[in-house]
Amino acid sequence: MKATGPATDVIASSSDGIASSSDVSLSLSKDHLYGAASPAALFDEAAENYRAYMNPPLARVMKVSGSPVEVSAAGCTITDHTGKTYLDFAGGYGVFTLGHRHPRVIAAVKEQLDRIALSGRTMFNPLMGRLAKRLAQMTPGDLSISFFANSGTEAVEGALKLARAATKRPTIVATDAAFHGKTLGALSASGRDAFRDPFLPLLEHVRRVPFGDADALRGALGADTAAVIVEPVQGEGGVNIPPDGYLRDVRALCDASGAVMIADEVQTGLGRCGALFACDREGVVPDVMTLAKGLSGGVVPIGAYVARSSVWNAAYAKQPLLHTSTFGGNELACAAALAALDVLQEEDLVANARERGAQLLAGARATMRRYPAVIEDVRGAGLLVGVELRSEGYGGTIIPELLKRGVTAAWTLNQQRVIRLEPPLIVSAGEVETALRALDAAVAAAFQQLGTLP
Ligand SMILES: *Cc1c(COP(=O)(O)O)cnc(C)c1O
Repeated sequence: MKATGPATDVIASSSDGIASSSDVSLSLSKDHLYGAASPAALFDEAAENYRAYMNPPLARVMKVSGSPVEVSAAGCTITDHTGKTYLDFAGGYGVFTLGHRHPRVIAAVKEQLDRIALSGRTMFNPLMGRLAKRLAQMTPGDLSISFFANSGTEAVEGALKLARAATKRPTIVATDAAFHGKTLGALSASGRDAFRDPFLPLLEHVRRVPFGDADALRGALGADTAAVIVEPVQGEGGVNIPPDGYLRDVRALCDASGAVMIADEVQTGLGRCGALFACDREGVVPDVMTLAKGLSGGVVPIGAYVARSSVWNAAYAKQPLLHTSTFGGNELACAAALAALDVLQEEDLVANARERGAQLLAGARATMRRYPAVIEDVRGAGLLVGVELRSEGYGGTIIPELLKRGVTAAWTLNQQRVIRLEPPLIVSAGEVETALRALDAAVAAAFQQLGTLP
């Protein structure tokens, strides 16, 4: 796309929720250009800073694929430096459950800024306590003790350490294609070799089994197993939905072997999959659940695990400071999370995720039927939908073609043949329809340009 084109030829306004042209002129004011002299100057500055000071190869890939500069966002819409608007169907990989800058979350964070921003840690923090209580009430079964961090990978680190300390056993069992984060411990439990190999040796005593295969798991468990860590639906692995009953089998096998069951719901939790937690789809209560991405409504980073008190006590009853975080659960993050959980429940976004998810799935499947040479499979749970391409080569065209048509989408990290559609849970029927039309046109364009790829 013409990333630095004039604003006038890229104004996209429509009746179904995309920003109007008055938003566009606002977005092109000096304020919205972060002080740059022009849209082109802002783009050049950002791209050059990425190239020179951050990540040269990433800067190149983003430029080639036509990535613009995001300058503002609200609801399901992102506005770029030229004033063009995009429906956000990448959705921050699950961060923007409430869309961008939900007014109630923003208000809660602003109010908290005027009281205390970061905790001093030597005194009680009322919001952290309230959030922990709220999570105990919302999460399934008897999950009740929360630990707060700042990201998904830290939540996973906390859960893995908890399991080892509670069981006094070494071994972690994880699944192929899993994604649990990129710090050393979480990476050790993740499944894509390309991300792991440069850092070997990783954590010892990690065993990997195929995802969705209870028999393989049975064979991997033993008296040395501290934990089984599993995503109820694999997100970055390519939106993989396990066979019915798999999570119940994992639960039973953990019970039989004394291993801690860790459900990594960093991406699937809090409504994403059309249930409050993806574990609820099978009525399974894990021993530890990890949360992050959507937890604070896309405004302040936060991560958490919620554990059964018996597991937590077995690890930390006598040593309260064994696992801590300076910034984890700070007041701003907790204020955001409390407001975000209110919105999630009061606006019944779980139901919307189910309904709009069904619409998105059906529409993407219609495109698959029109272009069977390009799309091999479409699958999803709620508003986590994966479009599996017959060849990786199509993705590099479909994603930029979508962007041209005003829709963001993203690959899954561990499976480059799968494009994920993961819009905010507040998405409207009209917005889903608009994105589906763009998807159909982008797939058509890719087929036209590339033909049938081997
Ligand atoms: C994104 C993700 C993580 C890692 O979260 P970060 O905040 O990027 O560290 C862990 N687990 C799952 C399932 C994820 O999708």
